[in-house]
Amino acid sequence: RAKASGRDRWAVFDQAMRDQAVRILDLEADLRRAINGDGFIAFYQPIVQLHDGAVVGHEALLRWRHERRGLLLPGEFIGLGEDSGLIEEVDWVMYRRVLQHLAAEPGDSYVSINVSPRHFRATDFADRLLRLADAAGADPSRLRIEITEVALLDDASRAIRMLRTLRDHGVLAQLDDFGTGYSALSYLHRFPVECLKIDRSFVSGLDSGGGHEAVAVVRAIQALAGTLGIYTIGEGIETLAQSQTLSGLGCTRGQGYLYGRPAETPVYEASLG
Ligand code: C2E
Ligand code: MG
Ligand code: MG
Ligand code: MG
Repeated sequence: RAKASGRDRWAVFDQAMRDQAVRILDLEADLRRAINGDGFIAFYQPIVQLHDGAVVGHEALLRWRHERRGLLLPGEFIGLGEDSGLIEEVDWVMYRRVLQHLAAEPGDSYVSINVSPRHFRATDFADRLLRLADAAGADPSRLRIEITEVALLDDASRAIRMLRTLRDHGVLAQLDDFGTGYSALSYLHRFPVECLKIDRSFVSGLDSGGGHEAVAVVRAIQALAGTLGIYTIGEGIETLAQSQTLSGLGCTRGQGYLYGRPAETPVYEASLG
């Protein structure tokens, strides 16, 4: 009897493993199809000046419109894309979309794209991005890249070269999720970045119970930005109180649900001031 139930357990386990493997293979096949089709789209979230709510640009955020599962967020498939090595292709599809959008949309507001450290390791990343902008007929000075500190750490001199090449062509860089990474403050001045994006975890802490810790972190980030002569963007602003506290601490720009959710059609008017 024990033997039989043991076998059953194995059978159940086996089936679960098989189901899981099939699901992953399915999703991987879907991923390949979506890359070649039009399953990947860019959503745009406004970035505003905190003092008057004027829109200065947008962050492009990847979405996957899946035939059966609906609209998927990056967190639901980027891991898989990384394991299968497909995420880079997905990103290039995304970047092309964004550049075509920029070429078609007049004005001078910018769009920032998220660049994973993995891309930054490819020596031809900057050239490829600039070629793509050229082919799309987009002005590279209306494009920004968002990178995390990790991208700067593994090969600093290559990262600096890459950032300079991009900057020389008008593509400025912003440091994403700032405060959550290594924050080796002493090295930051070597990297030509335009601004620091204060991670949402600190912004959401600003008006919830332990506010003083979040305030201390934001204060420290502002002091650092001041030393570097750059500005900051508060991420994930959901309340007026958060926005006002950020402003009071010297943060000049922000993004978050308070000002606008990511949407397929970018919004250019200020929604709050
Ligand atoms: P991120 O670059 O830090 O993007 C900000 C995330 O915060 C986005 O999540 C955005 O929808 C969300 N957000 C914005 N405002 C608020 C708010 O007020 N409240 C809350 N709770 N959330 C807010 P999303 O779109 O799910 O993207 C998650 C992450 O996926 C991004 O974090 C970025 O690291 C990555 N990602 C997004 N698009 C791309 C892409 O095209 N390529 C790559 N490689 N990564 C991407
Ligand atoms: Mg970002
Ligand atoms: Mg971010
Ligand atoms: Mg973040």
